[in-house]
This record gives sequence, structure tokens and C-alpha cells, in this order.
Amino acid sequence: MQIGTPHRSAIETRGLRPIGELARNRPHGDRLRYMAGCRCPACRGANTAYERMRARARKAGEANPIVPADAARAHIQALAAAGVGRRTLSIATDITEATLWAIKRGERANLRRATEKKILAMRADLLADGALVDAAPTWALIDALLKAGFTKLAIARGLGQQGGGLQLRRTRVTVRNAEKVRRLHDKLMADAERLVDATPSAVLLQELLDEGYLPQRLKREIDGLPESMSLPKKISAGLANQIAEAHRRLTQ
Ligand SMILES: [Zn+2]
Repeated sequence: MQIGTPHRSAIETRGLRPIGELARNRPHGDRLRYMAGCRCPACRGANTAYERMRARARKAGEANPIVPADAARAHIQALAAAGVGRRTLSIATDITEATLWAIKRGERANLRRATEKKILAMRADLLADGALVDAAPTWALIDALLKAGFTKLAIARGLGQQGGGLQLRRTRVTVRNAEKVRRLHDKLMADAERLVDATPSAVLLQELLDEGYLPQRLKREIDGLPESMSLPKKISAGLANQIAEAHRRLTQ
């Protein structure tokens, strides 16, 4: 066992250099120089900014302290027993499934009070499939699908909707629909990466060019169109989709 000043031995074993030496290469206005003793306005300013940042962080930490995860764990287990799954809970709380899982299994011993509050606020009766959650993440997935060339009608059909348009509210959607959209998104996006024969797409593209649409215009309508306007033998199903969709839009 080594006896000595622990500070000194820590510096030695970790290969840290004394602060004065570290600060020498720093410009004024770097907090290291303040710590090494410089009190010029720039270094004082750097230190003040740091102190303020620490004070803000402390305040945030006091408002949202770390608490034991026991209450949250018990609540997640009670919700699970009442049939509320981790995925539903994740959508409703906006806490990742991995985090919820770790809390539930006791792998996470602590969590932030705000996170605990969100979990404890969940009620099994309200988390039935019909419960409403923020629609923004769902619409982001739909927008990604539209961008990839899937039509609203195709998305509506994929969701099992029979009517004309896509029937989803902009503000709130049910947990059931949020989950359906997520699954459809993952499936269609995986489909979109498949390679398909480009011949039909090349025909449609040529028709648009023959109609007088300029390449720049078409590139704006269709993501991933080659500069040359000539397609390789195989293209992604997503690109083929987009070409078909643009053709439909521009020729009707
Ligand atoms: Zn200075």
C-alpha cells in the first residue's frame, strides 16, 4: 500500500499535468487560465460564464432530482399486470422502451423525478388502445412515407382504413393508431429499399421529359433521381414509387 499525498499520486498515475502547465497553451478567456491564476477580464468572464452554467445545472438538478426507481418500478409492474405493455407505455410517456425495461427489471436503480412523475401519471384504464397521445411523432412517420412516394391512399389502406382519405387527427392519435403507423412505416420503408426493374420507371420518366418537364423540376419532385435522368437497370422500389407518384401528379 502506498502512503503519500493522494492528490499527488493521482496526478502522477493518471499522467495529468499541473494546471499552470496546462493553462500556458490556452488563450486568455479560457477557464483553465483563470484557474491558474489569471484575473484579466477575458479569463474572469470565462469563469463567470462557467459558474452561471453550473448554477443553472444545480438548480435544474434540484428541481428534477435523481430519486430511487422503486415507485416507478412498482407502477410499471402494476400497469403490465393490467395489460399495458412497454411499447404502449413508451409511446404514452415518450420514455424509451429500453429505459422502461431497465426500470422494470430493476437494472436502473434511480431515475429523474420528472421521469418518475411521467410514469406514475399513467393509468391502466386510460392506456387502453383507445388512449390518446401526441400525434406529432406519428405524422413525422407519415411524412417520411409520403416523401418516399407512398400515397395517402396507400397509407390509409395499409392502416386498414376504408374511406377516401387518411383519417388521422393532427393533434392527438390513439395509441393503437400510433403503433399501427409505426409498424406500417417500418414495413413499407423496408419494402422501399428492395431493388426492382427500372424499365417501367424509365418509361414514365421519359414521358414526363417529353411533356416538357425540366430535369431540375423533376429532381425537386423526386428524391434520388440521377442528375443524368437516366436510370440504372435496377432502382429501389421507393424511387420507382416516387416516379410513379410524380407521373400521376404531373399528368392529371
Ligand atoms: Zn487571462
